[in-house]
Amino acid sequence: MSSIPTSSNPRLADSFGRVVDNLRISVTDRCNFRCRYCMPEEGMVWMEKSELLAFEEIERLTHIFAGLGIRKIRLTGGEPLMRKDLYLLVEKLARISGLNDIALTTNGYFLAEQAMQLYKAGLRRINVSLDSLDPVKFNVMTRRNYYSKIWEGLDAVEALGIRPIKLNVVLIRGINDDEIGKFAYLARTKPFIIRFIEFMPIGADDGWSRDKVVTTAEIISTIEREIRKRLVPVEQRGIQPADRFVFEDGIGEIGFISSVSEPFCEHCNRVRMTSDGKLRTCLFSLVETDLKAMLREGASDEDIERAIRDAVAKKEAGHLINQPTFVRPSRTMSQIGG
Ligand code: SAM
Ligand code: SF4
Repeated sequence: MSSIPTSSNPRLADSFGRVVDNLRISVTDRCNFRCRYCMPEEGMVWMEKSELLAFEEIERLTHIFAGLGIRKIRLTGGEPLMRKDLYLLVEKLARISGLNDIALTTNGYFLAEQAMQLYKAGLRRINVSLDSLDPVKFNVMTRRNYYSKIWEGLDAVEALGIRPIKLNVVLIRGINDDEIGKFAYLARTKPFIIRFIEFMPIGADDGWSRDKVVTTAEIISTIEREIRKRLVPVEQRGIQPADRFVFEDGIGEIGFISSVSEPFCEHCNRVRMTSDGKLRTCLFSLVETDLKAMLREGASDEDIERAIRDAVAKKEAGHLINQPTFVRPSRTMSQIGG
């Protein structure tokens, strides 16, 4: 099957005219961290291994997605590097024609050991989640004592020359919102782009409330006050969820994912596939399409293509976090793939 969309095989679009070219693939729901906005401290129940898509199944589905115009893939989880030999999947995906971007979002714990293999397999972009620059507070956020291990991983990625290295930071008011200036300073002194992600109501037992969300507007004014430099937008909101800013002197980039205070839904170009092979057209979707069942029941590529098109056609206008009718999905962030 060709992986290039043709006139008989046009690109994926929804009923609002948004073209979908970005797929986030979760490879596991398991994780060695217990970030307080994502998972409860105890009692997580993992999927059976047989429920997870095999690498060959992910490869086949990705091939079909690429044929429909998907260009960017991000591997995520749970913690994707807990999936054994993830580099073998990266190798398979890197061979699919049409894909021009394979990225990874990780908590960084296994990077020191795996960064080289992943790079050799074709991975070129990495986001590392790091919510605190203080080891004690890092423990409070992740409930794990792994701060120095994450820095070993970041050093390994930096030494390999992988760029950009993006650091994802979720702020929770009263816990780590006093570190905004320190993160901004890091963006100016290391080859890191700092991306502040607003705290969303999607974790299990996350204690979310609107007053705990530190909004982008607040973060920008704190950075400008503490660093004493203005932040200048580098691109108007396009299809990227992150609004990008650089400091007025050109040194250091900061991104903002303002899912709560300024949702980017009207430009959303992404869909997600869970580790058990369910297609979700929004992080907050209440419906899923079971691609794994189709695969395992022997569906043809054409059948699967049709199911993907039908699902994408019904992509939600946007999430409803800010509406009184908002309903949390039954799956949490780590079960969907953040
Ligand atoms: N384990 C990997 C990691 O932490 O980078 C990948 C999966 S994690 C679910 C993906 C991203 O979702 C992380 O950057 C994490 O900080 C973010 N995230 C998880 N729960 C969140 C929440 N309730 N609100 C905002 N971001 C969240
Ligand atoms: Fe694990 Fe990532 Fe969730 Fe933290 S945010 S518990 S690292 S899946």
